Amino acid sequence: MMKVKKAIKRLEKTKEIWEQRLIWDSEDDAAIKEIKNLNTIIAALKKRISSPPKDDGAFGKCPDCGYEFNSELLEEYNLKFCPDCGKKISMTAPGQEREKKEASWKNHLMDRFGRCE
Ligand SMILES: [Zn+2]
Repeated sequence: MMKVKKAIKRLEKTKEIWEQRLIWDSEDDAAIKEIKNLNTIIAALKKRISSPPKDDGAFGKCPDCGYEFNSELLEEYNLKFCPDCGKKISMTAPGQEREKKEASWKNHLMDRFGRCE
């Protein structure tokens, strides 16, 4: 997952370089093509980063395309991707995600500095 995020950052940097060429020549064909291509790749990679579904009552919505699905069904069949656009879906609520991060940070500190009782 971190690898994907790093790759996206690098691609966005590359995109900025091409965008600078458009400042000098807004009809630079090579730059326009590269930027379009990079946008496609970045969008595809972003689908690999999971987000929780948008909560919409009984139904969950894909955080990317808004496709509606029954979130209970997702859990039951252990689906991990939006059936419509392929966006990776995580079933943990944002709150739970934060708790998990805090717990792993705590463990990291304890391993490093020892547990104090
Ligand atoms: Zn979707």
